[in-house]
Amino acid sequence: MELKDVKYISTSRINDLKKLNIFSPSDLINHFPRTYLDLTKITPLKEAYNNDCVLTVAKVEIEPRLQTGGRVKYVKTFCSQGTDTFSVIWFNQPYVAGKLKCGEEYFFYGRVQVKMGMVTMTNPIFEPVDKNYRLKGLMPVYSVKGTIGQSAMKTMCLSALKSLEPISSIPSDLLLKYSVSSLKNAYYEVHNPSSDKQLSSASNRIALEEYFKLISAFKIIKGDKKAVRINDYKVSSKMVKEFCSRFPFELTDGQKSAVNEVYKDLTSPTIMNRLLQGDVGSGKTAVSLVALYIALKSGYQCALLAPTEVLAKQNYLVCKKYLPEFEIEFLSGSVKASDKKVIKQNIKEGKISLVVGTHAVIQDDVKFKNLSLCVCDEQQRFGVAQRSALEDKGNFTDMLVMSATPIPRTLSLIIYGDLDISTITDKPKMRTEIKTSIVPESKYEDMLSFVQSEVKKGNQAYFVCPKIDGDDEGTVLSVKELYEELSRTLYGVKVGLLHGKLKDSEKDAVMQDFKNKKYDVLVSTTVIEVGVDVPDATVMVILSAERFGLSQIHQLRGRVGRSDKQSYCFLIQTKETDLSRERLLAVKNTTDGFKISELDFDMRGGGDFLGEKQSGRVLSDLKTLKYSTKTVMMAKALSDEAFSNPNNVPALKKHARALYERLKNVTLN
Ligand code: ADP
Ligand code: MG
Repeated sequence: MELKDVKYISTSRINDLKKLNIFSPSDLINHFPRTYLDLTKITPLKEAYNNDCVLTVAKVEIEPRLQTGGRVKYVKTFCSQGTDTFSVIWFNQPYVAGKLKCGEEYFFYGRVQVKMGMVTMTNPIFEPVDKNYRLKGLMPVYSVKGTIGQSAMKTMCLSALKSLEPISSIPSDLLLKYSVSSLKNAYYEVHNPSSDKQLSSASNRIALEEYFKLISAFKIIKGDKKAVRINDYKVSSKMVKEFCSRFPFELTDGQKSAVNEVYKDLTSPTIMNRLLQGDVGSGKTAVSLVALYIALKSGYQCALLAPTEVLAKQNYLVCKKYLPEFEIEFLSGSVKASDKKVIKQNIKEGKISLVVGTHAVIQDDVKFKNLSLCVCDEQQRFGVAQRSALEDKGNFTDMLVMSATPIPRTLSLIIYGDLDISTITDKPKMRTEIKTSIVPESKYEDMLSFVQSEVKKGNQAYFVCPKIDGDDEGTVLSVKELYEELSRTLYGVKVGLLHGKLKDSEKDAVMQDFKNKKYDVLVSTTVIEVGVDVPDATVMVILSAERFGLSQIHQLRGRVGRSDKQSYCFLIQTKETDLSRERLLAVKNTTDGFKISELDFDMRGGGDFLGEKQSGRVLSDLKTLKYSTKTVMMAKALSDEAFSNPNNVPALKKHARALYERLKNVTLN
C-alpha cells in the first residue's frame, strides 16, 4: 500500500509529508506525536511569564491578515481572553490566515513574549475549541509541515492505521506466553490517547517491539564470534608495573583497577571485549597505553582509532612519547595518497606495529600482518558496523573501547552484547566542582550581567541552544536568534556562532578562534567538539535545558572547569513542568555521569542516546514516546528466548536485515 491509497491523503499532502521524511503509510503511523497537551490544563495568559510555552484558549477578534515587513511575511491577529487582549503572529505561514475565523474560539499553544505589559504569542499551533474538549483530555501534538495542521495529521495517521496491520516481529508463541498486548491497538492509543495510563502502556508496547527488533538486529550484525584467545602475550605484571613508571604521575585508584582488569583479560583464555568508561579527564589514555604496550611488546600489531582528526593526532603524539621503542604511524583521510600507499604496504608487511588514526584505518584495503589489539577512543561516535569492521581485521582481536559518555547498563547490553565494563570514577587532580544552577526567567538578566563580569576578568562563556533555526511553532529560541540577541545586548562582548550546518573546516576555525580568544562568548548547538580544551571557559549557559538529555547536559557541563578557576553552569528552563524541573535538579545535584545516564534513560527512554541523524525513522520517533528500562530488559529477554529456538531464526533474520541498513551506522550521542 502507498500513501496515495490512504483515505484523506491528497497529492499536495503527500508532498508535505515528504518534507517530514514520511514516504509510506508505515512511516506515517510511526510519526508519533511530539508531545501531548492536557486540554484540561489551560493557562490564563496573564499568569504566563516571558518565554513560557503555554496552552491557552482565546477568541479571535480581528480577521487575521497577511502582512509584509521588510523581507518577512507574517500573519497577525488579535485575540481576547476575558477582558485581556494579546497579539498573535505567525512567521512564514501565510496559509494560517485562511484557517482562523474572526469571532471563534481556539486553543493556542506556543511561546509567549511579555514585553512592557504587551503579550505576544509567536507561531502557536492552534485548534478550534470543541465544546466537549474538557472530556477529551489528551491532544496529540505532531511535528507538521506546510499546510498540514494538527488535526489533519491525526486524521491521516488514524486512517493509515485502518488499512494497515502492524505486524509484530516477536514470535507468536512468545506473544501468547507473556500475554503481550496487540500492537495495532497500541498504535491507535498513541495517536488517539484515551488516558495517561493507556497511553503509557501503549508507548511501552511499541518500544518493546522496536527494541526487540533492534536487539535482534544487533545480534545478527555481530554474528557469533568465537571468543577463544589465540594471541599469546608474554608480558609479566612486573613489566606492566615498570611500564607505568614511564608516566610522570601515579595512576589513580580507578586507573589501577582498570589496568588490572585489562591485564586479566589479556592473559585469560578468552579474548578481551571491554568498555572503559570515565568522564573526560579521568585518564583513560594511560590505561589504553598499558594495553597497547602489552600487545606490542609481545610482537603483535595494534590499532588505535579516534573519531576526529584532531583527537587522532593528539593520540598519535602521546603514543610516540610513551611507546618510543615501537614503529608508530599516523593514518587519516588527510594523509597524502602517495604516503598512504607506502604506509598501507608497511602495515601489511608488519613494518609498522601501531597505527593511530581515524576511520581511514578501517578501509577495506588496509591489511594487517598480525593485528591483535584494537583500541577505539570516544567509541560512542563510531557505528556498530565500523567497530565490527575493525574487529574483523585481525584474528580474534582483543578490543578495548573507550567512552566519556557513560551509558546505562541496559543500553550497553543491547549495543555491545555482553561486554565487560571498567569504569573510572575518580579524577587525577582535585578539580573544583562546577557550580550548577537552574535560572528562572526573572533572573535571566542578572545572569547575563554575571557573564559580562566573567568576560571582563578574561574568562569565556558558552551559550548552547537546542535548535539551529527557529522552528515552526517558535517554542524554542534558536542559536541564530540568540546569537543576534546577544550580539546586540552584551555590550563590548565578542560573540561567535557555531552550529552543525557549518562545514567541518568552518567549525574547526570557529572553535580555534574561540580558543584564541577572538570571541568571548560562543553561541552553539551541541556540536562543540569533545576533545577541544578551552581552559578560560568558565561559564556554560544551556537554554531550553529541558529539551536536552541529562547526559547531554552533563557532557556540556564538562566543557567548562578545565582549569583551577571556579566554573559555572546555568540551566535555563523555557517550559516549566514538574518533570522537567525534577530532571534538571537531578543534574544540578549529581556529578556522577553514570547515575545521570540511568536517570535519563528512566525518564526519557533510550532514543536520546542514539544519534538522531543515522538512527532512522522509528528510533528517532521512539524518542518522543515514554517507556521504561523494564521494557528494554523485557525486549532483551524476549530476543534471547526467540533466538534459542532455531525455527525462529530465519524470520528474525529477515526482520533484522531490513533494519541493518539503517542500523549499521548508528552512533551514540
Ligand atoms: P580522558 O579520560 O579524557 O581521555 P586523558 O587520558 O586525556 O583523559 O587524561 C587527561 C589528562 O590527565 C592528561 O593530561 C593526562 O596526562 C593526565 N593524567 C592522566 N592520569 C593522571 C594521573 N593519574 N595523575 C595526574 N594526571 C593524570
Ligand atoms: Mg580521551
